[in-house]
Amino acid sequence: MTLVFRALVTSILAMAMACSVYAQHPISTIIKQPSVDLSTEWQYRWGDSPLDSQGLPLWITEPDETAWRPIDFPSNPPGRQGRTNAWFKAQLPDNQWRDPALYIYSIDLIAEFYLDNELIYRYGTFDENGQGRFIGWPWHIILLPEDFAGRTLYVRTYSDYPDIGLWGEIILGPHIVHLQRMVKADASSLFIGAMLILVGLFSGIFWLANRSMLTNLYLSMFAFCLAAVVLHQAQLKQLLFFAPLRWEIVGALAYCALVIPLAGYVEQFSGRGWRHSLVILKWGVTALVAVSALLSITDVVSIANLYPVFDVTLVISLLIIAAHVVHSIVQGNVQARVVFAGLCILGGFWFYDMATAHGFLPWDRQRTEWGALIFVLILSVLSFRVFINLQRQLIDLTQILEAKVTERTIELARRNDDLSHANQQLHSLATTDPLTELYNRRHFFDCVAVEIKRTRRTNMPLSMLVMDADNFKDINDTYGHATGDRVLQDAASICRSVVRDTDIFGRIGGEEFAVCLPETDELGAKGLAERVLNALRSTPIHFQDNTINLTMSIGIATLAVTDHDVDTLYQRADAAMYDAKHHGRDGIAIR
Ligand code: GH3
Ligand code: MG
Ligand code: MG
Repeated sequence: MTLVFRALVTSILAMAMACSVYAQHPISTIIKQPSVDLSTEWQYRWGDSPLDSQGLPLWITEPDETAWRPIDFPSNPPGRQGRTNAWFKAQLPDNQWRDPALYIYSIDLIAEFYLDNELIYRYGTFDENGQGRFIGWPWHIILLPEDFAGRTLYVRTYSDYPDIGLWGEIILGPHIVHLQRMVKADASSLFIGAMLILVGLFSGIFWLANRSMLTNLYLSMFAFCLAAVVLHQAQLKQLLFFAPLRWEIVGALAYCALVIPLAGYVEQFSGRGWRHSLVILKWGVTALVAVSALLSITDVVSIANLYPVFDVTLVISLLIIAAHVVHSIVQGNVQARVVFAGLCILGGFWFYDMATAHGFLPWDRQRTEWGALIFVLILSVLSFRVFINLQRQLIDLTQILEAKVTERTIELARRNDDLSHANQQLHSLATTDPLTELYNRRHFFDCVAVEIKRTRRTNMPLSMLVMDADNFKDINDTYGHATGDRVLQDAASICRSVVRDTDIFGRIGGEEFAVCLPETDELGAKGLAERVLNALRSTPIHFQDNTINLTMSIGIATLAVTDHDVDTLYQRADAAMYDAKHHGRDGIAIR
């Protein structure tokens, strides 16, 4: 995290510096400085000069004016025919400067500078055959003696690269003015480089926050590669760290590698069937970058000679990527439309740079950086929009999910209700007699067993009545079974109306009922039995024009110490009930 923070602070500082440089060195003040453009009126000569006995080139110690041809700018003279050596010369104009110096944007590839027959500057090493190795494309400031005016400047060059000679700008002027020019020219590169690093960092952080959004990863990689390309073009880097060849390798590899994240980015919205060609392109260029890095670092191939390969790769890759984007546009992809517009802008700048680098257009300082910045900003806005859209979709999905959860919760509650209702029904079916709605036999005995246990602890009395309808068979026989059922129901409700709620009332089977009376002694039980008989006597049962006077025989037993369980108590009450039957029915007997 500290690394990210440092990079962030550095980028902001670089942007601030770039802005202040712009403010301190407006273009007008630099242009007003007295300096002379030395990019015309040169002469050239193909080949390399033999050396005299002191090691000085004969072409300057014994001048042969007829061998030299005029040329406007000291670069790529006509009729090269594979030659790797060329000489250039020019007469230096008169001027009064402090610290006069010659500024050269770049040299293809190595060179020696002589003022008359005095060696004043050397870049690279010439061997005995006049050849040498590429060591990078830095800028050069060559300090001149005060009396340079009117003297001839000779430049001996060697190049096995498509270009030979000096490149870009050649300016004669005070040393300080050259430095000012560079600072001014670098301001935009530094500013854009810093912006790109910021975009790269933010996209990287966005990707870390949501790894599934690969567009952010590719955008981050693309921004960092572009930042490397742009910052490698900045001239001030050379003052901070003079390693032209290493800078060149970094810049060239980053330049070639740009295609990798670009292909990856477009792959994210490209149609399925087509996508594999982008994957091949991505990995193919990755392999090319890796091999180029290996070859150039180990000095097997000069990085300068890899540039044409990179340029061709870039053009082909851009065409493939553009084809994908166009295909996506045809499919109606909005993102593709925006990327295409950005690609056109970037491609325009890019092709312009290549054209100037390869001499198809007059030299100009490279301006890809602006195209790059515009493109990256477009992609950033696009990514941000995608991010916002995703957030919105996420919110919508969350709302749908919440609604579903609520719906399910309600459904669950409803099912719970149904279940508890079903449980209640089940319980009631298991414990209740369906005809009379009194406790059934099993539940009655279960409840009485519990009550007896309680009574044993509290030492309270407990009684039981067993009641059997008298001559019920006759009722069935006379009125039918359905009427018998109805009579049983009515008899049960008549009895219940006199029985307390706390008493346990059940149908033991057929036309026989039983009531358990907690906290009731024999006398109390007898009182209740009489109330039951009276209630039945005074309440004739009416059914379909029939009036039936039902009577019952009731047996009473009160819990005794000898009663071990509910069965013995019941048996005594039942026996008492039979006693009542024998005594003429519609009466009470006690045991
Ligand atoms: P007792 O006075 O000696 O008890 O004479 P009873 O006729 O009532 O006794 P018995 O045991 O001879 O007959 C009982 C009758 O009760 C026989 C049976 O058809 C009838 N019964 C038992 N359960 C039901 C029922 O659920 N519905 C109807 N309708 N009749 C029933
Ligand atoms: Mg009976
Ligand atoms: Mg009976």
